[in-house]
Amino acid sequence: MVNKSIELSEENLLHIYNRFPIILDHGEGMYLYDESGKKYLDFGAGFAVSVLGYGNKKLLEALKEQIDLLYHTSNLYYHMNSAEAAEKLNKYAQMDKIFFTNSGAEAIEGALKTARKYAYNKKSGKYQFIAMENSFHGRTFGALSVTGHDAYREPFEPLIPGVSFGKFNNIESIKNLVTDKTCAIILEPIQGEGGIHVATQEFLEAVRKICDEKDILLIFDEVQCGMGRSGDMFAWQSYGVKPDILAMAKGIGSGIPVGAFGMTKKVAESSLKPGDHGTTYGGNPLACKAVKTVLDIFEEENILNHVREITPYLESALDSLVQDLDCVLERRGTGLMQGIVIKQPVSQVCIRAMEEGLLVLQAQGNVLRLVPPLIVEKEHIDEMIDKLKKVLL
Ligand SMILES: *Cc1c(COP(=O)(O)O)cnc(C)c1O
Repeated sequence: MVNKSIELSEENLLHIYNRFPIILDHGEGMYLYDESGKKYLDFGAGFAVSVLGYGNKKLLEALKEQIDLLYHTSNLYYHMNSAEAAEKLNKYAQMDKIFFTNSGAEAIEGALKTARKYAYNKKSGKYQFIAMENSFHGRTFGALSVTGHDAYREPFEPLIPGVSFGKFNNIESIKNLVTDKTCAIILEPIQGEGGIHVATQEFLEAVRKICDEKDILLIFDEVQCGMGRSGDMFAWQSYGVKPDILAMAKGIGSGIPVGAFGMTKKVAESSLKPGDHGTTYGGNPLACKAVKTVLDIFEEENILNHVREITPYLESALDSLVQDLDCVLERRGTGLMQGIVIKQPVSQVCIRAMEEGLLVLQAQGNVLRLVPPLIVEKEHIDEMIDKLKKVLL
């Protein structure tokens, strides 16, 4: 018999996701439980979102308290939560000004608009964007326009004009695309959907240099790789290559829908002004309570330190898979953002893993993507490897 939730979903929801046939019910720590009580070890974290795992007491209490007090006001008025969340995010992202959004795609939209407005203010005539092949920036029109994946873009063309795609980690290919009309270069320091590709130090430095020389803004999309996942609060910090605009989302609310884009003082002073941009929900008291509390918990529980300490264990466990199993070809990644290239069709491996009680993600290039909650411990890594071996053998 078809389960009621599945039946009701397929009858009423637009069929646009090929969902796994399980109905999740609740979560605790690193685990999710379905309606039948079956337990799943979660190495997907709802697309790298649930950085604190499930049921973090401090986060739950803070959110419940905020719901009782006030959870929506609009941006016509001030609220302490958005002020404090922005202050903390500025501190950790090393930005000067923050705009809160509801999603990653909206953070990208805002980043692109900021770059266009900066060029407009300078009367430079610049409007073009250089993005990367294999990139992913979201599903809205602007974000889609800079997403380097033909199959995602094609059905919706024409998209915004003036976008060209260079090769990630290939500085010559970027140089060839730069014109006197280029207003910004956008990239993910660690490409997620594209198959876990980590930027090289030389590449990011060289891109920064081009931007500095030609007054081009550098936008980093850290929607997936940011918020502690790389072992630094934001991935750019380990390179020491600072963007002018930084897009964030996914982990910053650990599951409460919230995104943000940050910018330096230089950009803020000469870009978006009242009337240029806005959002009804963005940065509401509940979302900002989440951001602020998640950052508090990062401090108190020294999450970054934990990510740095546990990473070598995960990496060597995955490297052993590459060594021991012919069907595992390569490991790529930084921190708790890892991928293994496998021989078997990855979609089938994900289904088999789910049956074994392990949730993992796909990425382009037949990559099995592992982006667990940042609270993962050695025992979970051991359990994940055991389960994965059963599935891969
Ligand atoms: C998920 C993602 C986005 C889009 O975020 P949404 O919240 O789904 O709109 C943008 N950029 C990157 C790198 C992402 O991983």
